[in-house]
Amino acid sequence: MKHFREFSPKMANFAKMAFEKRWIEAEDRPGKRPGGFCTSFPDSEQTRVFMTYSGTSSNISTLAHELGHAYHQYVMNDVHGLNQGYAMNVAETASTFAEMIVADASVLNAKDKQEKLELLEDKIQRSIAFFMNIHARFVFETRFYEERKKGIVSVKRLNELMLDAQKETYCEALEEYDPSFWASKLHFHITSTPFYNFPYTFGYLFSLGIYAHAKRSNESFEDNYIALLRDTGRMKVEDLAWKHLKVDLTKSDFWEAAMELCVKDVEEFISL
Ligand SMILES: [Zn+2]
Repeated sequence: MKHFREFSPKMANFAKMAFEKRWIEAEDRPGKRPGGFCTSFPDSEQTRVFMTYSGTSSNISTLAHELGHAYHQYVMNDVHGLNQGYAMNVAETASTFAEMIVADASVLNAKDKQEKLELLEDKIQRSIAFFMNIHARFVFETRFYEERKKGIVSVKRLNELMLDAQKETYCEALEEYDPSFWASKLHFHITSTPFYNFPYTFGYLFSLGIYAHAKRSNESFEDNYIALLRDTGRMKVEDLAWKHLKVDLTKSDFWEAAMELCVKDVEEFISL
C-alpha cells in the first residue's frame, strides 16, 4: 500500500479497502495450490483475489499483480457494461504495472546486498519469462497452427516444435529443455482463447513503458492512468497510448525505453 501510494493514492486506498473488506483469500493450507487469480462481480462491483501466501517475495508480487487486476475492474465499475470488456493485449497492463511498483520498491529498499541480489534475480526471472518462455510459447503456437492446417499433429511432432521453439527463443542458453511443455501448460488448452501468451509480453512491455512514463511525469499521472484504464474496453491500444500518455506505440522508442529498464536490472545484478 505504501509503494502504491507513491504512484497513485487512489490505488493504495483501493488495496486498503480490499484488505479491510476481506476480498483476499490468501491462507496457505494443505491441498491448496500455489499461484493466484482475481475475479470480479460486476453487479455488486466487488472483486475477489484467491491466492496462496506462503511468505515468499514472489507471493507478494502475485498479490500486487492480482490487486492490479482488481483495481482495473474497480476504475471501470461505472463504465457502461458493453465497454468494460477489454482485449487480451491490455488485460495484463494494470496487473503488471502494480507488480512492477512493488518489485522496484523492494529492490530499492533491500536491507543488504544479499537481499538485493535475490530480489533483483526475481525481477530478472520475470524478464526471462516474458521475453524467452512466453516467446517460446508464441513461436510454438504459431507453427502449430500452420501444421494443424494439414491435419493432426502427432505427439512426436509437437515435442519437436516445442523443443525448436525453446532452443530458438532461449538462444540455446539452457542445459535442459522441456519438449512436452505443450502438454502441461494450461493456456494451450483454452481453445476459446488461442495465443494466450503474447498478451503477457505485450502487457509487460506496455506497463514497463507506463512505469517509465510515470517516473518522468508529475502528479497528473494518476488521473491519466485511471483514464487510460477506463478506456481499455473501447479503444485500440495505439489510440489509448496516444490519448493518455502522448506516446506513439508504432515507433520503437516507447518499447526501447521499457527494455532499457530490464537491461539496467541485469547490469546491476552483474555488478553486485
Ligand atoms: Zn494477470
